[in-house]
Amino acid sequence: MTSAPRPIVIIGAGLAGLYTARLLHAANIPCVVLEVRDRIGGRILSVDAHGTPSADGFDLGPSWFWPQAQPVMAELVQELGLDVFPQASDGDVLFERMSREGPQRFQSYPQEARSFRLAGGTAALVHAIADALPADCIQLNSRVTQLALEADGVAVHVVRNGDAITMRASHVVAALPPRLLAHAVTFSPAIDEVARSKWSSTPTWMAPHAKFFALYERAFWADAGLSGTAQSMVGPMPEIHDATTASGQAALFGFVGVGAAQRAAMGDAALTNACMAQLIRLFGPEAGKPRATLLKDWAADDCTATGEDRVPGGHPMPDPAPWVTGEWADRLILGGSETSTSEPGYLAGAVTAAESAARRVILSANR
Ligand SMILES: Cc1cc2nc3c(=O)[nH]c(=O)nc-3n(C[C@H](O)[C@H](O)[C@H](O)COP(=O)(O)OP(=O)(O)OC[C@H]3O[C@@H](n4cnc5c(N)ncnc54)[C@H](O)[C@@H]3O)c2cc1C
Repeated sequence: MTSAPRPIVIIGAGLAGLYTARLLHAANIPCVVLEVRDRIGGRILSVDAHGTPSADGFDLGPSWFWPQAQPVMAELVQELGLDVFPQASDGDVLFERMSREGPQRFQSYPQEARSFRLAGGTAALVHAIADALPADCIQLNSRVTQLALEADGVAVHVVRNGDAITMRASHVVAALPPRLLAHAVTFSPAIDEVARSKWSSTPTWMAPHAKFFALYERAFWADAGLSGTAQSMVGPMPEIHDATTASGQAALFGFVGVGAAQRAAMGDAALTNACMAQLIRLFGPEAGKPRATLLKDWAADDCTATGEDRVPGGHPMPDPAPWVTGEWADRLILGGSETSTSEPGYLAGAVTAAESAARRVILSANR
């Protein structure tokens, strides 16, 4: 009796892992996506006013793509038939220079490469990809803990809902941040030290950051001719934007400029109060009456960030040196956004990293 061929195991159901699965499925190569969380999307997270993942959500992770500068994203969005809309920018911009001065107001200028958003939230992208995959392809609540090299493939050790299981793969595509892979998965035999140190020193893009949202009944700032965009040297949010959804749910969001350690020390309630005080300073008393607020601290999320991501590490740079060397080179492919040679760290990087990972798998399947 011959046993069924080993599938490709993809670690991570973020954009990179799911798009790799889409490409392999199109090439008739069986694959399974293992995801530790109870949801797909990874850093892509679109939620409702209660913070629950939603098909009409606010983007706690990525909000924007730049179709002019990132044609791969424009093509994917078109291929999936998704609706897009430009980031709201009509109206004046506010600038807060110092705490003892009121905000100054400036006319806004159109961006060179305009930012676009997806109707429903960025999660529309991963749901459209996942919906077209076979039902049993994505396995949630499945934490990969160890990879062990075997003569004809890889033993993938997984903890699923508390139970330890072992799966057998011909190849593994690790579609997660390299630094997180180094931190969360053990290898037998051990990964070559040069490769391992490259993984650990690659910053996970945006992992040190947090986003704050205030949701409103209406976009009251437009009445005053404001775009919702503000920049501040006072904080806690250095950058604020309109986050109103395509369906018209009004919101403002800001990146929280307070470092991860200080955020942890302050706690969510104090941070929320500080962000709300800033919105009132900038946009007036109506800003103080949100219907809900949302705060997502990515540095505190151990399915994205490691301890090293508490400190901003800069943008990952394209690096042509191989991600995997030595004994593992034929069986393990790194495929998260940070490994891309173009736009690493971005959504576009996740797409190109997936294309490159799938190409390598297809090549070895045809050997
Ligand atoms: C706040 C924020 C704002 C951003 N803004 C933008 C933006 O506007 N535009 C843009 O282009 N990019 C932006 N980004 C970056 C963008 O989110 C990423 O480039 C992209 O989502 C990365 O996708 P990925 O699949 O490579 O990795 P991830 O989305 O991180 O996916 C990795 C997956 O692996 C899973 N995983 C981890 N460990 C294990 C394990 N042991 N076993 C199984 N599964 C595991 C994780 O749960 C996750 O689902 C932003 C990111 C953040 C956090």
